[in-house]
Amino acid sequence: MELYGWGRYPRVEAEVLEPLNADSLHALLSVKRPKPAFISRGAGKSYGDSALADRVLSSRFLDSFIALEEDNRRVRCGAGVALAEILKVSVPRGWFLPVLPGTKFVTVGGAIAADVHGKNHHRDGSFCDHVQELSLVLASGEVLVCNRQHNSEVFHATCGGMGLTGVILDATLDFKKVSSVLVNRRSLPARNLEHCMELIEQNNASTYSVAWLDCLSGGSSLGRSILHLGEHAVDGKLIVKSRRGPSVPFSTPGFLLNKFTMSVFNSALYNLRKKGEKISSTNYDAYFFPLDNIGNWNRLYGAKGFLQYQFVLPGESALQGMRKIVQRVSAAGKGSFLAVLKKFGAANSNLLSFPMAGYTLTLDFKREEQIFPLLDELDALVINHGGRHYLAKDARLSEAVFKAGYPNWEKFLALKKLLDPTGVFASHQSNRIGLTG
Ligand SMILES: Cc1cc2nc3c(=O)[nH]c(=O)nc-3n(C[C@H](O)[C@H](O)[C@H](O)COP(=O)(O)OP(=O)(O)OC[C@H]3O[C@@H](n4cnc5c(N)ncnc54)[C@H](O)[C@@H]3O)c2cc1C
Repeated sequence: MELYGWGRYPRVEAEVLEPLNADSLHALLSVKRPKPAFISRGAGKSYGDSALADRVLSSRFLDSFIALEEDNRRVRCGAGVALAEILKVSVPRGWFLPVLPGTKFVTVGGAIAADVHGKNHHRDGSFCDHVQELSLVLASGEVLVCNRQHNSEVFHATCGGMGLTGVILDATLDFKKVSSVLVNRRSLPARNLEHCMELIEQNNASTYSVAWLDCLSGGSSLGRSILHLGEHAVDGKLIVKSRRGPSVPFSTPGFLLNKFTMSVFNSALYNLRKKGEKISSTNYDAYFFPLDNIGNWNRLYGAKGFLQYQFVLPGESALQGMRKIVQRVSAAGKGSFLAVLKKFGAANSNLLSFPMAGYTLTLDFKREEQIFPLLDELDALVINHGGRHYLAKDARLSEAVFKAGYPNWEKFLALKKLLDPTGVFASHQSNRIGLTG
């Protein structure tokens, strides 16, 4: 069948296998090669080709809850369980996932394999910093339980390892306590990029922090933005309500999306400037997953799909590097008009995890031929400023750019060769960036 990621580019023909448990995985892995390699696939919400291969192992049926430890506030569940399902169970008990990406429709396996981050990396790290333990089916078919004490090298290679060490079967996750479904939000206007970063630093104590940046304005307004800070409310009920909004029925020209987002942004900024700041209270679902309410919003970029470009620059060079990149995107007039800026805290010990202390910016580009040379230029700027790119968003990075950004790639490869000597696990992405193939 035809498969693709959230960016709808690239598209490949793949055989999709749906193992039910460790035994059926063992049987699939025991079939003698030569056969094309496998890669695990969760909900397919990575943007590019990290969950694409000729043969794909779907975690669709690894979807059960296994244990709930009331005293330790912990849940063990299958890797195919979506974060949305976990929140349905945990929120009424006052338990909350400590790290959430911008969509709740990702699986536990996908969240671990990409070591996803949220709006609170500067405070709480990334998803895997709250994973106690995981079970991994190796290329040999053996199941290995790993955590920070036992098989810790495999644990730190699998967290952020993009499915290349084996298939995550299940995981034990820690939760934090909340007493309300509401999040108190404070929104502040920023004159430009520099002002926005100043505001982020001044509000470093805020649990959640994310800025929406205008990539069209230039000169002294370059990077004018709205910073949204957030804290869990104390008062309120613990009831999960599902929102169901409209769905995009078919592909539409990308300019419609930009027109819509810019008009919403401009009026919000205009109002904020008049008032100085806005304080509001909103349900966690609307706060953390604003786009989940619009089904198939990725179709708004047109039939050819789009590329999301996310990079991080380390603290000391972040402002200067970001300025150059936003200037270049604004001059090209090709990018999404809005970009998302977040602060990251220190990197963790996972070999291929994306976050490092600094700032990360995310931009969307409608796929068209002229985009590729522009993105190559941006790659050079990112690497020259000591940064790197997020593999979960990538569909096109070169091997050289990947390796320049991830200094632990050699350590990762050495371990991968021990765990998977015949190359059973590989994706189109891992072949392209020189980790397999
Ligand atoms: C709207 C939207 C917003 C997003 N916001 C954020 C954000 O704020 N922060 C962030 O960090 N990310 C964000 N993402 C990216 C997303 O969180 C990651 O791409 C995540 O990995 C997707 O999980 P998935 O279950 O869809 O995995 P897939 O896309 O199916 O796979 C992603 C990777 O995980 C591996 N994998 C999946 N399941 C397993 C398994 N059982 N065992 C081993 N490997 C496995 C795959 O091989 C692949 O390498 C966003 C994505 C979307 C669409």
